[in-house]
Amino acid sequence: MAKVYLVGAGPGSADLLTLRAFRLIQAADVILFDALVGSEVLQLASSNARLINVGKRSGRKSFSQEDINALLIYAARSAEVVVRLKGGDPMVFGRAAEEMAALREQFIEFEIVPGVTAACSAAAAAKVSLTDRRIASEVSFLTAQACDENTGKQWIEPSEKNRTLVIYMPGQDYERLSSDLLRAGISATTPCVVVSKISSADQQLLRTNVGSLALATPLAAPAVIIVGEVAKSAEDAIAVDLERFGTQEVRSHVAYSAR
Ligand code: SAH
Repeated sequence: MAKVYLVGAGPGSADLLTLRAFRLIQAADVILFDALVGSEVLQLASSNARLINVGKRSGRKSFSQEDINALLIYAARSAEVVVRLKGGDPMVFGRAAEEMAALREQFIEFEIVPGVTAACSAAAAAKVSLTDRRIASEVSFLTAQACDENTGKQWIEPSEKNRTLVIYMPGQDYERLSSDLLRAGISATTPCVVVSKISSADQQLLRTNVGSLALATPLAAPAVIIVGEVAKSAEDAIAVDLERFGTQEVRSHVAYSAR
């Protein structure tokens, strides 16, 4: 019987894969991949490998989580090396818990291969340290996209501590995001930086603050937002101070300079 590997593909560019992920992608008989996995990474697969896109197509889920679980089990019974390839790290907003439960239930052996999660690649792109012993002793990874979106529960817990927030799947409604942050007691002057399409040629960064975020033009998905005093030092980002410039539209394009 095969082994299933839940592998983190990192933010997109192939040179941000771990060596273990790289070797497994090359050795895989079957690869089930998500929409966020970069084409550069998929090109590393063997020409004999079966590549199955289980991610979103034109914004719609083509496979339900149940379909993916069933497919994983089916692949494990018919192939040797099965790679379940996920953007970033599989254990961060990757529904790995459900896939592990399905595999455990069928007594299928599996292993997890970590990847660079979007929070860390965004921090690198913006040159922002998520922790800083002077101003941030805590980091939270959070999203408004919970399982049940209608609970009305506050998704940002107020905190007394000096905390950095990294918001995954922020959506395009920055006005709502800004008001949710303000409601959680975060001050309007707290710096934040939006980092979009990390590690691709279209990477964009936008630096603003929690109050002005409401007026900013949203960057393209996928994006994360780093909120906290640490974001003050964001580099390579176009600063948007909408309080000063009114509602003037400011778009920034910062080419990925590491290649
Ligand atoms: N497992 C992934 C997260 C999956 S949830 C990880 O560890 O990174 C999907 C969200 O991750 C996106 O909506 C976005 O918020 C973030 N994300 C993933 N890849 C990204 C990228 N290349 N650039 C910016 N954000 C990214």
